Amino acid sequence: MRRLSLYALSLLLAAACSAHKTPLIGISCSRGAGGATQLATTYTEAVQRAGGIAVVLPTLQDAAQAEAVLGKLDGLILSGGEDVQPGWYGEEVWNETVYVDSLRDRSDSLLARAALASGKPVLAICRGSQLMNVLLGGSLYQDLPSQFGTAVAHGGGVAHRIGLEPGSVLASLYGTDSLTVNSFHHQAVKDPAPGINITARSADGLPEAFETGRVWAVQFHPEKMLQQGDSSWISLFGAFVRRCGS
Ligand code: MN
Repeated sequence: MRRLSLYALSLLLAAACSAHKTPLIGISCSRGAGGATQLATTYTEAVQRAGGIAVVLPTLQDAAQAEAVLGKLDGLILSGGEDVQPGWYGEEVWNETVYVDSLRDRSDSLLARAALASGKPVLAICRGSQLMNVLLGGSLYQDLPSQFGTAVAHGGGVAHRIGLEPGSVLASLYGTDSLTVNSFHHQAVKDPAPGINITARSADGLPEAFETGRVWAVQFHPEKMLQQGDSSWISLFGAFVRRCGS
């Protein structure tokens, strides 16, 4: 009987250890109509396909809660969505195209700061990359069409090329110096935060990816390209999931 118990215990321990190897990755959300927690399935499916466990995070407003949530996670994805409030980088709202949800800003910033403090890996996508740049001390173009003259269409999902810095995560993963990406943004990094490394730019010079510490940030939507059938983007999510598990 005693032997059986020890055997059962060892099985439980083995199960617990192997379960721990599958990284738990939290994904920040928007607040939709009627108070819904809102997130495109592209994000959760990308994490799942890459071998991680995806957890949809509700908005929260308490720093201690954000730290407690990060304590349970192995990594964080800051998802796309609304514009970051311009006051956070010392500017007034530029025009009517700027759309802010201050409660989401607070929630995402608490999660991001908790992730930075804990040293857990972050994948910051679109708005997430803009938010991370602002939190680290950078600024944004609030509205590219009216503030930044460019021949590259960044809104509406039209694909464009990006040039990659040698040695960057993207260049290393894909073994190339340029990629085609989608583009759904009317804002972009203006002044990069101190210490961040811009690792990709579109032909007009706008930052399209950066790295700093354990943060990977992309201005485009790899999760959407993956769901739309470009399976090459599993490499990026696979690398992120492995990073969260190590
Ligand atoms: Mn773009």
